[in-house]
Amino acid sequence: MGLLEGKVAIVTGGTEGIGYETSVRFAEEGAIVYACARHEKIFDNPLINYHYCDVTDERSVKELYEDVIKGHGKIDCLVANAGITCDALTVKMTNDMFESVINTNLKGVFNIVKMVGPFMEENGGGSIVTIGSVVGEYGNIGQVNYAASKAGITAMSKSWAKEFSRKGVPVRVNTIAPGYTMTKMMNSVPQKLLDKFSQQTMLKRLGKPKEIANAIVFLASDLSSYITGTVLSVDGGMRL
Ligand code: NDP
Repeated sequence: MGLLEGKVAIVTGGTEGIGYETSVRFAEEGAIVYACARHEKIFDNPLINYHYCDVTDERSVKELYEDVIKGHGKIDCLVANAGITCDALTVKMTNDMFESVINTNLKGVFNIVKMVGPFMEENGGGSIVTIGSVVGEYGNIGQVNYAASKAGITAMSKSWAKEFSRKGVPVRVNTIAPGYTMTKMMNSVPQKLLDKFSQQTMLKRLGKPKEIANAIVFLASDLSSYITGTVLSVDGGMRL
């Protein structure tokens, strides 16, 4: 019996990188998964359904939410994972660059949790996992927009952990803070910097998407039934 047997899960940004591995791991654990993104992906596993969603667009998020409820009558797990970077030193960062990252990473998480959180609260509970970053804690040169969005995700998640559990229904909300992980998001980072990031970890290497996904499975599943309002670092012991 899988850790997520029979659960219905939404994974935003579920078609690439960490989200893709999360969709695959969830299905391996028996969940019915809605992997959402703007570009379609075909999955081999029949438990994984691609669903279009642009997290910045409230109508698109509502359509996704309503389709999942119509299909299954419940949502047990939400992984609010979709995220982008748009890096530049502050002096060169345009308002568009700043806003696009905030709209996707921060407002995008708000848009979907605003629907799913209250639903879980009214329907017996659930587990929400948001994806922060080491950068949200330590900051990073050239990433003020991204750092702000990720610190904001942690703050929103802690607030939701309090808000959605106030009636005594077990809606758990936790954040995973990954360290640098080898996905296409890292494609634009020069090798010299990637080597430096590896050296800043205790394990002397970057993370693999599956290693983040395994931690997400833990927080989504009943194995973590007494954990809420917390941030789990999955970063090889990174110190910046
Ligand atoms: P990828 O770039 O590999 O994948 C991003 C996913 O998000 C894609 O599926 C993409 O699909 C989707 N996405 C982007 N914009 C939107 C949108 N507006 N609406 C819906 N889906 C969207 O990223 P990673 O796997 O590397 O990152 C996943 C999460 O982990 C992000 O939140 C990121 O900030 C975080 N993270 C990553 C780290 C890393 O080192 N890789 C480190 C710390 C945190 P599409 O473009 O088709 O919409």
